[in-house]
Amino acid sequence: KVAIVGGGPSGLTLASILKAVRIPFTVFELDASASARGQGGMLDIHKSSGQLALAKAGLLDEFKKRMRVDATDLYVRDQTGEIRWYHTEKENPDPERPEIDRGDLRNLLLSALDEGDVQWGKKLVRAEKEGVAQEGCFSLYFANGSSATGFNILVGADGTWSRVRPLRSNVPPSYVGMTVAATRITNLDDRLPELAKFVGNGTCMSVEGKSLVVAQKSGDGSVNVYSFISVPEDWRETSGIDWSNQRRGLTEFVERYYSGWGQEAKSLIIECDEGDLAIRPLYRYPPGHRWEKTSAGVTLLGDAAHVITPFTGEGVNLAMHDAYDLA
Ligand SMILES: Cc1cc2nc3c(=O)[nH]c(=O)nc-3n(C[C@H](O)[C@H](O)[C@H](O)COP(=O)(O)OP(=O)(O)OC[C@H]3O[C@@H](n4cnc5c(N)ncnc54)[C@H](O)[C@@H]3O)c2cc1C
Repeated sequence: KVAIVGGGPSGLTLASILKAVRIPFTVFELDASASARGQGGMLDIHKSSGQLALAKAGLLDEFKKRMRVDATDLYVRDQTGEIRWYHTEKENPDPERPEIDRGDLRNLLLSALDEGDVQWGKKLVRAEKEGVAQEGCFSLYFANGSSATGFNILVGADGTWSRVRPLRSNVPPSYVGMTVAATRITNLDDRLPELAKFVGNGTCMSVEGKSLVVAQKSGDGSVNVYSFISVPEDWRETSGIDWSNQRRGLTEFVERYYSGWGQEAKSLIIECDEGDLAIRPLYRYPPGHRWEKTSAGVTLLGDAAHVITPFTGEGVNLAMHDAYDLA
């Protein structure tokens, strides 16, 4: 019996590969359903890692139908909005790093599974090992009071704050010194056409020193905006910004951290949908980190194992490649 905790990219990639080779498993995911939560912006899936895993799951052809080659447009701008670099793979019929919307990737991976393979609404609070793996030593305890027992293999694919990880390591990831404010603007083309042109079809990244604003256009016309600033880990609680009125809070945020920037970058932050603001400190494991506990039958994938900052665009590809390696 294989238990996979977490139905993100790493857990569902492993599940879809196990499905292809007929190894039974159950995924336990905290979201109440596949559509319970917006999945955010886009991910570029690399040929040498993410696509390799999709091929092993038999999903590469379907991925190629869903991938967004036009969204490989990348504009790098300075704080005034001037373009400093432009790159695209849209003329390449077989691009190295095609984009896919996060929600679409999840749906693609789920399409390989059967009803019941994923148990939704299962937030793991504790995993225990008692006895040996061959005899089904792993038990899982969930926030809703239910439990599942008798697993021979336990895979923690439950992200940065993994509840499986304590079986392999007690070392928490460390704060990288940067926090991101994630916002979203639906239907930008109609609402603010000039701003939509500024963003383009794919990713628009405005950079100055250690601050950046990244806007990504999804296939449904919405734009996810990530505003990165260098602040202490507890900034969300200690900044003194009153977030009870989102627009006023974001206006103050822009005045403090993006005051010398062009109007487009400022508007991308302020013009977001009401109620769609998430502030997240960023974490990582330093290179060379090793799990200090050996424990047969339990392992970790993706961010649960080695969370990194988003700036390399590698996190999801490493996560999917982990699943490929493990399967
Ligand atoms: C702002 C931002 C932008 C990024 N951009 C990129 C990018 O452009 N390219 C790229 O390659 N990477 C990017 N990343 C990194 C990428 O998102 C991650 O590396 C990737 O999602 C890791 O996949 P995962 O499945 O290991 O973990 P996650 O995506 O975190 O998935 C974990 C899953 O486990 C579930 N879960 C969590 N806790 C529990 C629990 N207790 N019980 C049950 N289920 C649980 C969650 O609901 C989730 O479904 C970005 C990250 C951030 C923060």
